[in-house]
Amino acid sequence: AFTPDRQEILKILAGQAAISLENAMLYTERKRAEEARERLNAQLRAKNTELEQIVYVTSHDLRSPLVNVQGFSKELEIAFREVASAIESEGVPSEVKERLTPLLEEDIPEAVRFILTSISKMDALLSGLLRLSRLGRVALTIEELDMNSLMSDIAAASEFQIKEQGVTLDIGELPPCKGDKAQITQVFSNLLDNALKYLDPGRSGIIHIAGRKKQEKVIYCVEDNGIGIAQTHQEKIFEIFQRFDPNIASGEGLGLTIVRRILDRCHGKIWVESEPGKGSRFFVALPAVR
Ligand code: ADP
Repeated sequence: AFTPDRQEILKILAGQAAISLENAMLYTERKRAEEARERLNAQLRAKNTELEQIVYVTSHDLRSPLVNVQGFSKELEIAFREVASAIESEGVPSEVKERLTPLLEEDIPEAVRFILTSISKMDALLSGLLRLSRLGRVALTIEELDMNSLMSDIAAASEFQIKEQGVTLDIGELPPCKGDKAQITQVFSNLLDNALKYLDPGRSGIIHIAGRKKQEKVIYCVEDNGIGIAQTHQEKIFEIFQRFDPNIASGEGLGLTIVRRILDRCHGKIWVESEPGKGSRFFVALPAVR
C-alpha cells in the first residue's frame, strides 16, 4: 500500500499553507484597492459638484452684467442716431459735418452691431452652460419606459420639419428600457434633431430608428444617411462646444454633451459609427427591463 512519508506530507501541508497565505494577502490587497477606489470616487464626486457649482454661479451671474451691456449699447445706438440728425440741421459748419458723418453713419453703427452680435453669442454660450450645470441637479425618476410611445411623441414634435424636408422616417419595434422619461426624451429628440439637421441636401433623407435587447441592456440606434462625421471628430463631438458642421447650421455644440451627461446619470452609454458622405449611426445603450 502507498504510505506517504513524513517528508511528503510536510511538503503538501507547506504548499497548502502557502496558498492560504497568498489568498489572504490577495484578499487584503483587493480590499485595500477597493477602499482606495471608493475614496477616489468620493473625491471625484465632490470635485464634480464643486465644478458644477462654479459653472452654475458664473454662468448665472455673468448674465446680468451682460444684459446691462446690451441695454446700454442699444441706448448708445439711439443717442448716436439723434446726434446724426442734429448734425444735419442748419448752423453746423460743413467741415464738422464732413468729419462726423462717416463716424456717425458707418463706424459707430458698425461697432455697436459687433458689440450686439458678440453679446448674443455670449448669451447663447452662457445659457448653454447654465443648462448643462442644471442637469446634474435635476432629480431623476427611473422607471420603465415604453419606447414606442416615447419615440412616436418625439417624431410627432418634428412632423412638420420631416414633411417639409421630405424625409423618410422609419421607426422599428422598440423594446422597453429603464430611464427618466423627460431626460431620455431629451436624448432622443436631440439625436433626431441632429439626424434631420445634418442630412445631405443632395439626396433624399432617410432616418431609421431601431432597438434590440442584448442581455441586460437595450441598444437603440438612430441612423441617418446624412453628411457623416470624419473619423477624427467622432469622439470630439461629445465634448463641450465642439462643432464640425461645414455649413454652420444653427447650434452651440452642446446637444451631444448634454446627451452623454444624461446617459451617464441614467446608467446608459452613447457612441457613434459614421462615414463621411454616407451617414451616421448613433447607438444608445440603456438598462433593459427584466
Ligand atoms: P450642435 O448640433 O449644436 O452643433 P451637437 O453637440 O448636437 O451640437 O453636435 C456636435 C457636432 O457633431 C455637430 O456640430 C456636428 O458637426 C456633429 N453631428 C452631430 N450629429 C450629427 C449627425 N447626425 N450627422 C453628422 N454630424 C453630426
